[in-house]
Amino acid sequence: METFSPDDADRASLSEGLGTTDVAINRYRLAPGEGLPGGLHTHLDQEEVFVVLDGTVRFETLAEPAVVDAGEAVRFAPGEYQTGANDGDSPAVVLAIGAPKGSEAVRVPLACPDCDHRGLAPEWDGELLLACPQCAGEHRTRGCPECERGELKVAAGENEGETVVVCPDCGAERATPQWA
Ligand SMILES: [Zn+2]
Ligand SMILES: [Zn+2]
Repeated sequence: METFSPDDADRASLSEGLGTTDVAINRYRLAPGEGLPGGLHTHLDQEEVFVVLDGTVRFETLAEPAVVDAGEAVRFAPGEYQTGANDGDSPAVVLAIGAPKGSEAVRVPLACPDCDHRGLAPEWDGELLLACPQCAGEHRTRGCPECERGELKVAAGENEGETVVVCPDCGAERATPQWA
């Protein structure tokens, strides 16, 4: 048996503290408006459950969003795109549970500029690289045209199934990345 008392950090890895072998558990504390890391994404090889312990978290998907209050939970199947953000005026606390523990197949709902396949694999080699599993193309973006930062976050657009690309630094929003 292992026990673990996470400290008050904004992100605590319970799986690390407990030494879990088959399940990943992270606890996040989100300020009002703050999102879970990563933006809209999915794991093709991992099921995810989020348990809201405090506050309210709104989960965006490519279909209907889900508003999850304290004491409630939501489950995403492998392949289902999702992201969550604090939807209330007070801090939210959420437990993110993923199994199996490791995930090798992360996808973001962006279309490949070469073959139009939707679902690119983000990789990081000093800067963001988006690999297309369909045509094996590797794409870099020019980053944010407003503040020139290289990161981007995919978010749900106004209409069902639509996505937008958001700069995590300045909040500038556009329909698609500017491919380098
Ligand atoms: Zn492609
Ligand atoms: Zn920016």
